[in-house]
Amino acid sequence: MSQRSEGDLTNTGMSLKHDREWDYELDRIVEAVEERDAEKVGLQFPEGLKRRAPAVADDLRELTDGVRYLISGQPCYGACDLDTYLMRRCDVFVHFGHSPMKESDKIIYVPLFSNVDPFPIMEDSLEELADPDDDPDVGLVTTAQHMNLFEEMYDWLEERGFEVHTRRGDDRLTHEGQVLGCNYASADIDADQVLYVGGGKFHPLGLAMEHPEKNVVIADPVNNVVTIADTEKFLKQRYGAVHRAMDADTFGVILCTKIGQGRFDTAEGIVEENENAHLITMDEVTPDRLRNFDFDAFVNTGCPRITTDDGPRFHKPMLTPGEYEIAVGNEPLEDLEFDTFHGTW
Ligand code: SF4
Repeated sequence: MSQRSEGDLTNTGMSLKHDREWDYELDRIVEAVEERDAEKVGLQFPEGLKRRAPAVADDLRELTDGVRYLISGQPCYGACDLDTYLMRRCDVFVHFGHSPMKESDKIIYVPLFSNVDPFPIMEDSLEELADPDDDPDVGLVTTAQHMNLFEEMYDWLEERGFEVHTRRGDDRLTHEGQVLGCNYASADIDADQVLYVGGGKFHPLGLAMEHPEKNVVIADPVNNVVTIADTEKFLKQRYGAVHRAMDADTFGVILCTKIGQGRFDTAEGIVEENENAHLITMDEVTPDRLRNFDFDAFVNTGCPRITTDDGPRFHKPMLTPGEYEIAVGNEPLEDLEFDTFHGTW
């Protein structure tokens, strides 16, 4: 079995094509391919890195004689989103860009870490955190892209007088302090304030919805801004969708067939109780794909981001399972919560 490192590979004299911006862990892939005598290997990249796929495949071809590499063209948004068609037909399946959601002999997850320095923006975030002399407790969370610096972030806060609280949420998460767009269990910590280090608005919004009792400070090293998570606009949008769905007679209940997004019991539970609800299976849930269905409202049991990010783009109200219960009168309006996923598959 070969025990080469990336350095060993690049020192073999071969001219490799892949960009050096990311560490694709070619050594680990080659080792797994050789160990398993693989003949066919599937490669799956997230959307933003798909254009890098051919160069990575070419390098792997160069490094492993006679092995065929097949690139997935399916959309891919998370560790939950594996191309199962391709996976079934390969001896090894490599998923780039996300932390492992579920390990197996066949699947290799290669997380790709951001090279943005988070510490300058963390310095700015001190303005929004309580003075550690008054309240030293702070939770620390981040996304998979910045997980490689998590310990350093932890130490950085400690050196400034904070008592840092972290936990690993549940088995949908790989790391302590990691949050996903559908899982904020790592922020269930004993502190009134949480520092979220990462890009985008979706994660801290979910975090603030899940933990309304906490002050969620966002240190965004990608856009270089510090903000406080504000749920008001988001809640208005969600209340609007629920109100519009209150008049609905018919519901399309979407069961997402992506391996890590299928909440069959939830979807089945709704159609069993409501004779005007029908279960629709689909992988990609987009406004275009639903346009030909004439339901009064939809319920999305797949990725929560479909409802919250894309909700207004659907031609009919799109609800989370919890919002559906409110719309049909099973739960009060004040029970509206962010939709989260727990566990794997
Ligand atoms: S279900 Fe969760 S892990 Fe999967 S794409 Fe959505 S937010 Fe990300």
